[in-house]
Amino acid sequence: MKRIAIIGGGISGLSAAFTIEEKRQSGTEVRYVLFESSPRLGGVLVTDHVDGCLVEAGPDSFLTEKPWAADLCGRIGLGDQLIGSNDSERKTYIVAKGKLVVMPDGLMFMVPTKIISTVFSPLFSWRTKMRMAAEWFHPPHKASEDETVAEMVRRHYGPEMVELLADPLLSGVYGGEASGLSVRAVLPRFADMESKHGSLGRAMLESRKQARKKMGAAANVPARPLFTSLKDGMQQMVDAVVARLDAKALKTSAVVQSVIRQDNGWTVCAGYQTDQFDAVIIATPAHAAADVLESTDENLARDLSEIKYSSSVTVTLGYDEKVRRALPPGFGFLVPRSEGHRMLAATFVHNKFPHRAPENRALVRCFLGGARDEPILEMGEKEILEIVRGELRQIISLNAEPLFARVYKWKSAMAQYSVGHLERLQRIEALRQKLPGLALAGNGYNGIGVPDCVRSGTEAAGKVLAEMGMWSSA
Ligand SMILES: Cc1cc2nc3c(=O)[nH]c(=O)nc-3n(C[C@H](O)[C@H](O)[C@H](O)COP(=O)(O)OP(=O)(O)OC[C@H]3O[C@@H](n4cnc5c(N)ncnc54)[C@H](O)[C@@H]3O)c2cc1C
Repeated sequence: MKRIAIIGGGISGLSAAFTIEEKRQSGTEVRYVLFESSPRLGGVLVTDHVDGCLVEAGPDSFLTEKPWAADLCGRIGLGDQLIGSNDSERKTYIVAKGKLVVMPDGLMFMVPTKIISTVFSPLFSWRTKMRMAAEWFHPPHKASEDETVAEMVRRHYGPEMVELLADPLLSGVYGGEASGLSVRAVLPRFADMESKHGSLGRAMLESRKQARKKMGAAANVPARPLFTSLKDGMQQMVDAVVARLDAKALKTSAVVQSVIRQDNGWTVCAGYQTDQFDAVIIATPAHAAADVLESTDENLARDLSEIKYSSSVTVTLGYDEKVRRALPPGFGFLVPRSEGHRMLAATFVHNKFPHRAPENRALVRCFLGGARDEPILEMGEKEILEIVRGELRQIISLNAEPLFARVYKWKSAMAQYSVGHLERLQRIEALRQKLPGLALAGNGYNGIGVPDCVRSGTEAAGKVLAEMGMWSSA
């Protein structure tokens, strides 16, 4: 009987465990033990129910175009529980000079594709609008080296685009800043489009045309929602995976201190106990993977520790019907750094996922922290709430007393793919290959979103099973 240890019980580790569980149930001679340091499984996927509202402490949904999370939901019997974002209400604002300005129609992740709506948008200066027009004639360019997202966006559209769009969008998704994140790792499609087409705007339109052509006869099929989630919140996914795992194999409140390579396998040390395994999947943040691998391979541990993480805080406030009627329509707003606020973004949850708040409630979810504001993690909840309420007052004139408030802190949970990330991953992979039976999963490597984490866990399980001759196409 082969034994596999999984370290980390977030969605990456759970996806790995579920993949092995499926094999076990189909008769493969394999067992696993999942070690999770906290008392609960799920990592940053946490859903609370407060006053009839569904409050997401971590992720609230995932991108529909990345299939792996929805696939997992299908495998765990939640296919009919998937819901889409209410895209008929999709409208996002940018805070500019203290006011909410609608993001112009046709912006595809910061790339303008509709000239008219961009030209008439009060968001950009004429100088930037001229840059956008000129961008259409950008010649193909293949950067010889990796660069930051800010450098690439500045080259195409100028500095205002970085400040008003690239930076706030990346703080929303990565808790990071455009001047710190690698374009090749974070927006590989942009690097590709630039080398083939030159202009990002033309490339975006071309890819949309190709996608439509591919759909061909299915052109009348309604567009899929941008975001997918679960009726009962993201935690539903965790609960359903856990219910399908072998309960005896799940060890919570079990902090793994080290995993040590030995002649015939691996020793996992957790607390005062050690246990032997044939393979190990480390599905923790990369900094925790570095710590547990320190005594096995210090070079690997060093490369892993160089993958930086930022922290974030989410604050959800519930309000009454009067506030709901007064709040602007749309999904929410992003706050550029130049506005001088600590809040990075806010979501009007009752519009994005209407069933998450009864009709007589408004639900506003705010994001703080990120690469530039680590100190906020040290503040007390009361202080954080004061900041959030003060900024909501300034930005959207929201003075009302909330009916409830919830603050969640996530320390070092969001990986920051800095320039050179892909080269670092190559080094990590080369070192990992010298350690048979080791696989890495999680948000530190090839994607930070929930679907990428599910894929990484599933692939990690496939990899170790294949090494043991138990998987034909890993
Ligand atoms: C606030 C927030 C909002 C987000 N929003 C979205 C979103 O809307 N959509 C989206 O797709 N993605 C979103 N993300 C990103 C996504 O949720 C995460 O990248 C993903 O869930 C990470 O899963 P994971 O299992 O790799 O890591 P984690 O969830 O961090 O789990 C890792 C687990 O490892 C455990 N661990 C660590 N060290 C040890 C050890 N030594 N021994 C044992 N266990 C250990 C930890 O306790 C933890 O439970 C968001 C993330 C955050 C923080």
